[in-house]
Amino acid sequence: MNKEKRHIAILGSTGSIGTQALDVIRANPHIFVAEVLTAQSNAGLLIQQALEFNPNAVVIGDETKYAQVKEALANTDTKVFAGAAALEQVVEFESIDCVLTALVGFAGLKPTIAAINAGKPIALANKETLVVAGQLITQLAQEKGVNILPVDSEHSAIFQCLVGEFHNPIEKIILTASGGPFRGKDASFLATVTKEQALKHPNWDMGAKITIDSATLMNKGLEVIEAKWLFHLKPEQIDVVVHPQSIIHSMVQFTDGSIKAQMGLPDMKLPIQFALAYPHRIKSDFPRFNFANYPSLTFEQPDLKTFKCLNLAFDALDKGGNMACILNAANEVAVAAFLQDKIGFLQIPELLANCMAKGTFVEKPTLTDYLETDAETRTFAAQLI
Ligand code: NDP
Ligand code: MG
Repeated sequence: MNKEKRHIAILGSTGSIGTQALDVIRANPHIFVAEVLTAQSNAGLLIQQALEFNPNAVVIGDETKYAQVKEALANTDTKVFAGAAALEQVVEFESIDCVLTALVGFAGLKPTIAAINAGKPIALANKETLVVAGQLITQLAQEKGVNILPVDSEHSAIFQCLVGEFHNPIEKIILTASGGPFRGKDASFLATVTKEQALKHPNWDMGAKITIDSATLMNKGLEVIEAKWLFHLKPEQIDVVVHPQSIIHSMVQFTDGSIKAQMGLPDMKLPIQFALAYPHRIKSDFPRFNFANYPSLTFEQPDLKTFKCLNLAFDALDKGGNMACILNAANEVAVAAFLQDKIGFLQIPELLANCMAKGTFVEKPTLTDYLETDAETRTFAAQLI
């Protein structure tokens, strides 16, 4: 690595990805510096992180918690900001070398645009941003010469398979899916599942929203859209296969028929570290995969009839325009409602399909259109609930 340390802004440092990114930084203080940390409402953890990592600045989204954070960091050099708009300002800091977008949902869109406009490489965990506005984001990144490095494990796997192959055409990619906690279950079972059951993911420990998305297979749908934009693919070049052990993180099939896979134990620290250190690989002490412990790695087709969300994502891709933005907004509302016991598990895809059928379609959306689509869809979805 260069002698200069890499200064990282972590948007969403108090979440699952954010705390694991700080684990990576803590383990590699000679390589990384936590430059900016942000949280939405978890002021206590943000303060604790700031006291440990002494960042240049922190942002607390919830403005009512500004005084608490400011007071706790009064004896430090850390600048304290509050509110959503502050995220767009801090990402522009001259001292930042890379912005890790580890916040959840549509809230990632504007700060990601600001970071790209400021020429900052993006380590992208916040897949919703690419789902909502993939065309706009990838075009802007290209114009500004900014790299978007995937953190999502599947996309990191594909990217790792492509290193050294960027000039070779891709025939297709194969996204692996764990199948979630309800793999093999039928609709009558799903009709009565609780949020507690849905929050128990077999292989990954993640934030609540993505854990529910994994249970509905919406997460894989969002990842199909994310992959389209990251790797410039047509929808028919993206396959999904269920691989319950989550050891192969995804694969690329080239035009000669050869398939490359990236493997390892399920641990998000690996793709986080790969994105933050790219193009270098740095040493880690993460547990190693042992073939002897996994005598069989298995693969099966996803059950698209029972888990309808995956096809809704392909529908949104086919339709283009702002349809994936509608899908994403409806899904954020539906997941929040499910977590509050306001709707059942099977009503999630129903709500999404309804919003996609009734939402105002815009063929060539601008940023303003995306913001309006998101707001309109949230209002409509809330009425349906
Ligand atoms: P979490 O819910 O664990 O964390 C979300 C983070 O974002 C927290 O720091 C939270 O702050 C902050 N946040 C929440 N809402 C807002 C908002 N409106 N504005 C600004 N900040 C906000 O999520 P995850 O870490 O699980 O996921 C983050 C992103 O990474 C998602 O897009 C997810 O799809 C993606 N991802 C996650 C994986 C995982 O293993 N967790 C794997 C692959 C992708 P606070 O703590 O104060 O609420
Ligand atoms: Mg993933």
